[in-house]
Amino acid sequence: MIVVLKQDSDESDITRVNSKLVSLGVQTQVTVGSSGVVIGLIGNTSVINEEEIKGDKSVEDVIKVKEPFKKANRKFHPDNTIIDICGRKIGGEKLAIIAGPCSVESPEQIISVAKSVKDSGAGFLRGGAFKPRTSPYAFQGMREEGLELLKIAREETGLPIVTEIMSPYLIDKFIEDVDIIQVGARNMQNFELLKELGRATRKPILLKRGLSNTIEEWLMSAEYIMAGGNENVILCERGIRTFEKFTRNTLDLSAVLAVKKLSHLPVVVDPSHAAGMWWMVEDLSRAAVAVGADGLIIEVHNDPANAKCDGDQSLKPERFDNLMKSLKDIAKAVGREL
Ligand code: PEP
Ligand code: MN
Repeated sequence: MIVVLKQDSDESDITRVNSKLVSLGVQTQVTVGSSGVVIGLIGNTSVINEEEIKGDKSVEDVIKVKEPFKKANRKFHPDNTIIDICGRKIGGEKLAIIAGPCSVESPEQIISVAKSVKDSGAGFLRGGAFKPRTSPYAFQGMREEGLELLKIAREETGLPIVTEIMSPYLIDKFIEDVDIIQVGARNMQNFELLKELGRATRKPILLKRGLSNTIEEWLMSAEYIMAGGNENVILCERGIRTFEKFTRNTLDLSAVLAVKKLSHLPVVVDPSHAAGMWWMVEDLSRAAVAVGADGLIIEVHNDPANAKCDGDQSLKPERFDNLMKSLKDIAKAVGREL
């Protein structure tokens, strides 16, 4: 349920209505936005007598929120959420471009890719240190050593780092070292991990959509993090499983539109994991920006043929550079900047 206050409500009106609601035993979230003040209610709202609340001189309307996600719901927070990461914003006018290899493999590799994507205009560096692999015999990532290398690459380039967490046991280390903590598709419903990320940190969480999860399930996973107190969630559409086998996954660009309507959270698109083939990545990136994504996360490798992970879907630095140039006009056409 949300309580919409009248435009002319002042601080004391907000406090009065909010205190009344709190006294009824519900949790409230007051959002002061560009179009006015909204008080979102979480908990047992059946105790609320709508007519009584509507009787307050400052209340414009009381609206039921039927969706199960509340804090992630646009009705609770009508303006877009803009997340600030070391002065760089995700969710505003400027597109967030996150680029780098699937996995950190060596100092030379990560530093060379970091420098080249920075020169091309990327705002963030990605690189997996702990890798979720289908096979236990495949490269599992450089783990702690990989995190150290990402920190060096950040020092060398100034790019904030994005890397995946797989276990709640590593949260302390990630909180200290990582600028955006990625929750991968395979962990989207690892509820203990989500709860811990909500409770223990306010660092932004890049929440990938699960392999076969609905938009509502994805938003409920965001809700887990937000319910714990961390409202800095960035959604990432990375393709879903369908009957189609030609592509690694099926990029669901309609999900970007759906999520933008249902939620205020920023959403970025990962065309690399969606397609699984490097030659689709540039066109899909342009399509994602055209449809209104707040950014992209793209795999870039200096030597894709010998990459330890996801080489087939990785762009070479020169191609990434071309892509960045071509994105400028598309960004402009949809009122964004690069
Ligand atoms: C990745 O980003 O390298 C990754 C493993 O992604 P996903 O969780 O989307 O498969
Ligand atoms: Mn990958």
